[in-house]
Amino acid sequence: METILFLTHPEDDGSLGRSALETLTGVVELNRQLSDAKFVAGFIGDDVSTAVAEASGCGAKTFYTVSGPDFKMSRCASDTAALEAICRASGATIVVAPTTSRFNRAIPGVAQRLDGRIDTHVGGFTVNGAELRIQRGYYRQRMIASLTRTARPWFLTFDSGVFPKWEGAPVAVQTETLNVKIGDELRKTNVTGYKAPLASVQTIRPDAKLLFVAGVGWTKKQADGQVHLEEAAKIILHILDKSGASLGSSKSLVDQSSEGQGVFSFMSHLNQVGQTGSTPRHPKGLAACCHGEEPHVVGWRFIGERRVINLDPNCGWAQGKADVLYVADAFELVAKVSELL
Ligand SMILES: Cc1cc2nc3c(=O)[nH]c(=O)nc-3n(C[C@H](O)[C@H](O)[C@H](O)COP(=O)(O)OP(=O)(O)OC[C@H]3O[C@@H](n4cnc5c(N)ncnc54)[C@H](O)[C@@H]3O)c2cc1C
Repeated sequence: METILFLTHPEDDGSLGRSALETLTGVVELNRQLSDAKFVAGFIGDDVSTAVAEASGCGAKTFYTVSGPDFKMSRCASDTAALEAICRASGATIVVAPTTSRFNRAIPGVAQRLDGRIDTHVGGFTVNGAELRIQRGYYRQRMIASLTRTARPWFLTFDSGVFPKWEGAPVAVQTETLNVKIGDELRKTNVTGYKAPLASVQTIRPDAKLLFVAGVGWTKKQADGQVHLEEAAKIILHILDKSGASLGSSKSLVDQSSEGQGVFSFMSHLNQVGQTGSTPRHPKGLAACCHGEEPHVVGWRFIGERRVINLDPNCGWAQGKADVLYVADAFELVAKVSELL
């Protein structure tokens, strides 16, 4: 019999984040489909009562908690100790956690301590009786693998955007509190504050409704035979500011900066979308001055609606990859859209 353990942590306000709630939906479904399985849940954090209440209707038999100020911040040493305690107490054979930056750092270490195996970025699963098969994308190889394991415990981190958010009415549940002692040696790392760029210069916004992608065309000679880098930067920043869009890029554009050419200071490889870049999930996408070659477009597969601006009516996007292609000068069109916004 498998024991499925759902692991989670609250966000700063005490509630469960989107990724945790989506993973919970997946785990509830997994428990429903897997024959002869037991379902339990585990929570770590400063005060986990709100998070437990939010998930209380999920059907888990036991709710394990490790809480207190020592577990408030994301710190690998204390998180690993807390998660290990929950895994051992529950006797879990399948451990499922959301792909959060906090868990990405801690869960692999827990798998190591329990001599388990881990598969990250799980994008779906199928169940045949008592056999679980997971799906995982190997983006660079452009493959989706379907795999199963006999080794236990089997740790899985579920990607966001795969399942809808869990919504269930709270019910009264008893929690089982585990006492995990954190010695001074584990307290060596402390969060003393945050240093983050201003929201206005943070161009990667995973929750934005729109992904705006810039291609290398912005840096090419235009109709007047000149390059207009400064104007391009102004237009791109303006549309980001006006629309609240997240900024993506083609590989060619971000590569130019690493090759020593001063291009756009607000753009780095983190913005790159595609086979060797990211695979963002936004309801809509708009690409401008980008040709739409397959290694780039493969990164768009989770974008709901794709629109494109290109001077060339025969660009790669025109080959059935975009929903709408505007054959137009992006400098003029994007500036006009920003003005209207
Ligand atoms: C193994 C491998 C992995 C790769 N991985 C990635 C990846 O992850 N992501 C990625 O993006 N690429 C990737 N590439 C590169 C990819 O194949 C393309 O070379 C790249 O995406 C092209 O970038 P681009 O469209 O910005 O540039 P270009 O192909 O040069 O296109 C520029 C476009 O801008 C248009 N344009 C110019 N001026 C204007 C204007 N004023 N108005 C409107 N349009 C204008 C032009 O018509 C042209 O179509 C990979 C390649 C390989 C071999």
